[in-house]
This record gives sequence, structure tokens and C-alpha cells, in this order.
Amino acid sequence: MRFRACGLSDVGRSRNHNEDHFEIVGDGRLCVVADGMGGHGHGDLASRIAVEAILEHVGNACGLTDAADPAVRLGMLEAAINNAHRKLLERVAADEELLGMGTTAVVILAEEGSAVVAHVGDSRAYRLRQGVLEQLTEDHSWVNEQVLAGFLSAEQARAHPLKNVVTRALGGESGIQVDVEAIEVQPEDLYLLCSDGLTTMLRDEQISEHLRLVGERSVEEVCSRLVGDANELGGLDNITVVLLAVEE
Ligand code: CA
Repeated sequence: MRFRACGLSDVGRSRNHNEDHFEIVGDGRLCVVADGMGGHGHGDLASRIAVEAILEHVGNACGLTDAADPAVRLGMLEAAINNAHRKLLERVAADEELLGMGTTAVVILAEEGSAVVAHVGDSRAYRLRQGVLEQLTEDHSWVNEQVLAGFLSAEQARAHPLKNVVTRALGGESGIQVDVEAIEVQPEDLYLLCSDGLTTMLRDEQISEHLRLVGERSVEEVCSRLVGDANELGGLDNITVVLLAVEE
């Protein structure tokens, strides 16, 4: 099994700086997207600290453990995100100007035949398998909680004025709860990690149309078309996409 990954982050059409960060390690076995929040450019700092802390933790842990075991990787990613959360809290404790900064994070750690996906916040992971798009993560957002409770339809949630309110974030108060899941990986699978700047502009059907063209188009071209479409539809937020293609 081989992995091919690429990513792209764009400020969009309405913000004046980009507070998203992404990182792809090696051939794409480890991919991270983080979407920072907080005034005065602090969101930019928060997402950068989180991405660095996650990479550092997984990098250190991979040297020590058998990373081929999904259960080990599950615990490792959860610990990596908790570690990033602690680092953010430490920075805020040392500098009260940073109070209120936080970030989402979505991470995939893939190996032969399996992967672990972890997230906090409303950045998402999707999988396209045999032409069918599936969202692998559940947004930790106020509108999604209302959808799950039956108070809002998915359509109402998309247009809701509170759609940007996240209910879990790294750097927020006290402890955080990380969602982690082990999944099976097949050749030809395509994984997408993205910030909400993509998903508030593009519907799942539109994302799926782009992803289905991987093969005919390179992953790089599909990344840039996803970002291009989000901008054409308004680009109201920073847009970050990472694509991970699995080959035989
Ligand atoms: Ca965002």
C-alpha cells in the first residue's frame, strides 16, 4: 500500500489573514489540519502550536512503540491532541493577552490496512470509497448538537447565524474530550481533511464531485479546485484541504 498526499491552505476572500495550519508528514501517513480562533492573530498562533505539538508527540512516540498496532496509534493520537491542548493552556497561562485563543484539530495516522482519525472541533475528515463520500467525524459545534437533538435540520444548520460556534476546542478551559476512531483502509480510498472554510462554502455533493475525479486529475489539482470553488462561492473564511490517496 502506498500513500500520496497533498494540501493547500488559502486565506479566502473575506479574511485578511490565514489562521489555519496543516502539515503532512512523510508520504502522508500523518496529516493534520487545525483551524485557529482568537483575536489579534492569536488564532494563527494557536493552530500553529497545536500542529507542531501533535507532530512532535507522534514523532517521539513512533520511535518508541509499535505504531503498526491500531490500538497503540489510537492512544497515541489521543495523547498527542491532549498534549497540544496542554501546550496551549501553558502559553495562555504565561501571557494573558492570549486569553481566548484556541483551535480545532483533525488528524489521520494511516498504516497498511488501517488508520486512526482523531478530532476536536468542527474541522472534518471525509472518506471517498467507490464513489461514495462519507463524513468520518461529527462536528463539535452548537448547530450540530441541535441537528443531533432534532431541533434543527441539516439545511437550517448550514444557514444558521451560530454555525461557527464550536463546543470543543484545544486551548479552551479545563479538560477536553477527543474523538478517536480506528478505521479500515483499502486501496483506492481517498481521505479529505478540511477546515470549515471549505464545508460552509461547499456542500458534500460538490466536494464528492471533485474527489471522484482523482485519478483522472492529480490530488494536487483536485486540492486547488476545491479551494478555488470555495473562493468562487464567497471564500468567507480561511480554506484548508488535505487529500490523502491510498494506492495499491
Ligand atoms: Ca474556520
